[in-house]
Amino acid sequence: MKIDINDVLVSDGEMFSAQYNGSFSAAEFLGQRYEFGNGVHVKADYFLSKSDIVVTGSFEGGTTVSCSKCLTEFEYTVNFKFTEYYKKSQQDSDYTYVGYSIDLTQMLQDNLILSLPSRHVCSEMCKGLCSKCGCDMNTQQCDCKQQMDETNPFYGLSELIDDEEV
Ligand SMILES: [Zn+2]
Ligand SMILES: [Zn+2]
Repeated sequence: MKIDINDVLVSDGEMFSAQYNGSFSAAEFLGQRYEFGNGVHVKADYFLSKSDIVVTGSFEGGTTVSCSKCLTEFEYTVNFKFTEYYKKSQQDSDYTYVGYSIDLTQMLQDNLILSLPSRHVCSEMCKGLCSKCGCDMNTQQCDCKQQMDETNPFYGLSELIDDEEV
């Protein structure tokens, strides 16, 4: 996404706005891939502050993630706000501008990664996969837990732990 800063550079700190609806490259973070097949929506306001251009706005894009407990895929909306300073080129800064337009893509990608949680869970009630047979305990019932309980000398103890988790 590019914004035109022609008018901003000769303004008196006046606020400008831009919107973008379109494709956005997939991101990868902690083994999870985020694809934006239906595109993303970005709103940006920007203004001149001394020789910096301040860009503030929001990003929204629907994607699919997989549950870290049961591996089921479900829809997830990436949503974040950002405020960044673009300095005139040749200054020591993360983001700089040269000429009369700014490409926000790198900044959006950076903020996107920062906004992501380390893991996704399909529901607070998700029971996950059985550690023994691998079946999805949300939809299937196996005998593993029962078998383990019967032979486990800490049977009573594990019941206590189960209670505490609820
Ligand atoms: Zn799950
Ligand atoms: Zn099992």
